[in-house]
Amino acid sequence: MMGKTSQEIVMAHPFEQIDFFQGYWRTESWGMDAQALLAFTKQHMELGIYAVDHAWIYGARDSSCEALFGDAMALDPSIRQQLHIVSKCGIVPPSGNCDIAYYDSSREEILRSVEESLTRLKTDYIDTLLLHRPDLLLNPAEVAEVFEQLHAQGKVRYFGVSNYAPHEFDLLQQYVDQPLITNQVEINLGNMYALEDGTLAQAQTLQRRPMAWSCLMGGRLFNPESEQDHRIVAALHQVKEEVGANNIEQVAMSWVQAHPARPIPIIGSGKIERVRDAVESKNIKLSREQWYRLWGASKGHGVA
Ligand code: NAP
Repeated sequence: MMGKTSQEIVMAHPFEQIDFFQGYWRTESWGMDAQALLAFTKQHMELGIYAVDHAWIYGARDSSCEALFGDAMALDPSIRQQLHIVSKCGIVPPSGNCDIAYYDSSREEILRSVEESLTRLKTDYIDTLLLHRPDLLLNPAEVAEVFEQLHAQGKVRYFGVSNYAPHEFDLLQQYVDQPLITNQVEINLGNMYALEDGTLAQAQTLQRRPMAWSCLMGGRLFNPESEQDHRIVAALHQVKEEVGANNIEQVAMSWVQAHPARPIPIIGSGKIERVRDAVESKNIKLSREQWYRLWGASKGHGVA
């Protein structure tokens, strides 16, 4: 059965009060034991970050990021209800006799992945589940059924997607009754496709706030490689001086937040002082001229 079209669904966005997510993709590399990870989580909660981003695929199988986080939460289960946990499914890594990774958004894979995420996170529900990547073999009717099942069972509250093009988002939304609440996409000065292919325009049309990954270009801002990287870093330094920011990463974060689609940055650092800096970036207001100067540094030219 067909669900509502995306245009028909108007909703109060469950992310309305969320300014930032803390990303846990790199948890393994932080080298924290459960106690230290719990302390880190509580520190970012004190900074106002109650939303966390995970995925089944993050980390190695025997040290999955979700499992590390679940072990930390188990030391103080009272924090669970204060958190909004996002997890993702649908990427299958190489294993056994299969030497390639592939995408799988079948009923069996979604259910398997969710059950395993719940076990690892030591929780009985995921706040928001995203399909991690567009699956070329996606059967939207099947996905709609499995989302309905997970919602009815109380295992997942909200659903969304990640790295979807607008037409892929529309296709799935045609079948899923619940609104897909977000499209989690890369947004940074080195990668502007979401600003150009209609992704952010769609988010505005539907009033679904996007989640923004790798706002600091995955750390490349601190180790610029290409000519474009160097132009971006130079322009960030100039604007940093103009607005009195602590550092260029605050300017890069404020550039993302300035877009009218109101993207929510996912902070990638495991260092609490860097998380604090990122949170303070919401107070930096760039002028249009500064925003476009940074845009132009990325493009290598001004507007037409
Ligand atoms: P990012 O903020 O662009 O990059 C974070 C990296 O930059 C970390 O390695 C961090 O190291 C480093 N860094 C930050 N400040 C620094 C500084 N001042 N000097 C040197 N290095 C610095 O974000 P990201 O980690 O790539 O992505 C953020 C989150 O987005 C991930 O955790 C994940 O949840 C999500 N994500 C989603 C997708 C998707 O396909 N949906 C893809 C990628 C990421 P330190 O920890 O040492 O600070």
